[in-house]
Amino acid sequence: MMIGAWWPMAAAAAPLRVNALCHAVTATPGRFDAPPPARFSCRGAPAGYQRGTLWLHVESRQLASNDRDAVLLVRQSRFSRLAVGFAYADGHVSWQQVTSGGFGDHWRPGGQIAFEAPVRDAALVGMTLRFDRLASHDLLQMRIVGRGAAVNQSAMLAALIGVALTLLLIGAIYNASLAVMIRHRFLAWHGAWAACMLLWGVIWSQLELPLAPGIAGTVAAQTCTFLACLAIALATISAATFLGRTALPRQMSRMLVGIGVSVGVVGIPTSLVRGHAIEGLATLLGILVLADLAAVALSLAWAWRRGSVQARDLVWAWSVPMLALAVTQVTDVGTILWGGGAQILVLFAGAWQTVWLSYAATRSLARLRIERDEAREAEAIAVEHAERDPLTGLCNRRGFEARVARLIAVAAREQAPVALLLIDVDRFKSVNDAHGHRAGDAVLRALAARLRRWESRTAAVARLGGEEFALLITGIGGFALSRFADGVRCEIAACDHRAIIGNRRVTASIGVAEMGPGDDFETLYEAADIALYTAKHGGRNRVIHHRDGPAPRITGDPALGRGAG
Ligand code: GH3
Ligand code: MG
Ligand code: MG
Repeated sequence: MMIGAWWPMAAAAAPLRVNALCHAVTATPGRFDAPPPARFSCRGAPAGYQRGTLWLHVESRQLASNDRDAVLLVRQSRFSRLAVGFAYADGHVSWQQVTSGGFGDHWRPGGQIAFEAPVRDAALVGMTLRFDRLASHDLLQMRIVGRGAAVNQSAMLAALIGVALTLLLIGAIYNASLAVMIRHRFLAWHGAWAACMLLWGVIWSQLELPLAPGIAGTVAAQTCTFLACLAIALATISAATFLGRTALPRQMSRMLVGIGVSVGVVGIPTSLVRGHAIEGLATLLGILVLADLAAVALSLAWAWRRGSVQARDLVWAWSVPMLALAVTQVTDVGTILWGGGAQILVLFAGAWQTVWLSYAATRSLARLRIERDEAREAEAIAVEHAERDPLTGLCNRRGFEARVARLIAVAAREQAPVALLLIDVDRFKSVNDAHGHRAGDAVLRALAARLRRWESRTAAVARLGGEEFALLITGIGGFALSRFADGVRCEIAACDHRAIIGNRRVTASIGVAEMGPGDDFETLYEAADIALYTAKHGGRNRVIHHRDGPAPRITGDPALGRGAG
């Protein structure tokens, strides 16, 4: 018995079918506990009750076995009044009622209205149900369960609804915030769809009734019909935007959006009208929904064949709701899942859809991000390569100029001196000639490695080409600069190349120039070049400091310079 109360399928054990009940149709009596008509018909289906009152009679054999604590659960709220009379063996009849906009204590989660038979000494022998202005008896779902089972089922159903609504809420917030952040149309449509499903779920499940009891009944049912149509429209538009222009031809995309929008548009009158007209509109809506599903399926197949990743994601996202819809069409799921029925399946299908599509969108964003990072990295490497000399790893002329511009700007701000050393290896051609080009390369690398040690926050080193290097240094000038330049010369001359070219020594000549007020780099370079030329002509292996005037100052070891030459 307990297992039966908790097991989902068991909840469907006692559905009451209208066609199996005796019925009568009358004009609407004024009092809710007015006596039922004398004659009931027990054949065929009731008709013509939409503007009046439909009476249904539940006999004692149709009640649950334990009739003392029977609870009648009704799922359908398109009526103006529902009154239930519990008849007892002693002739007493106890009436309860709900009206549209006034469900009182009778509402239960999952769109249910509960009527509990009052406990009396006499046995319950029958029930009379009275619907005023009922929209359609086909949509009625009723069952009778024990009081304990009713409580358990309501709790389970509330928990299920809570889970599904929470997922939809997360989906709506996540997609909406992403849509705002990265301005993506699909995310906006998808977020709107999730919000629409969330609202539909809240109103269908009657969870809003503690806060807004006035919308119970017809208003809530009408709102739900409209929201369901709007959700289909939004889902269709979001599918069209997700597939995008590359995966779908323009005409097809337009057709998809057109059908989706027409489902939303037909949903407006369907939700507003009452009475007979609803059946015609419901048929039209049914056809449009089927057309919409067919159009979505066609678009997905088309995009899939074109290799669209989005189409695959959408197939995954839509397959579960499609399956849920198919299940609700093929079998009567009326009261499964603790009485939640088709709607709870749809709610979970919606939750699945938003979770999957949020995941898919996040994954494609992450992919884009990775691709962007890789592109940036490749660009940085390309820039780095463009500014580096491949033989020595020092900056080339382009990289040097970029660094020099920054150093000069900083020095100008700090009013620090700036100086350039142009360094040219002496008689390098003869090194190549005597030991080969590869040995020459190795010597250049060794010299570059030594020069790199002067690279710092205030100095830049480069190989300008061939066997010519440059060193720009800020923060020193005058005598300190001359000493520094000579130190560079000595260090170069002291480099040990015995492993490459035997005992042959390699020296360099250095031209030095200091930046004067109003000078730019060009001027500085020309001055250093003149000084270097002078150093070469003065005998090599020496430092010449460029001074405006006829006699550049010469330092160094002329004898060694001649030796190296
Ligand atoms: P000077 O003292 O007048 O500067 O004499 P030099 O021989 O160093 O000058 P020159 O301009 O006549 O010759 C430069 C030589 O540098 C010519 C070329 O063989 C060599 N060279 C230029 N680039 C490279 C390189 O990348 N690798 C090697 N191994 N040699 C190079
Ligand atoms: Mg040279
Ligand atoms: Mg040269």
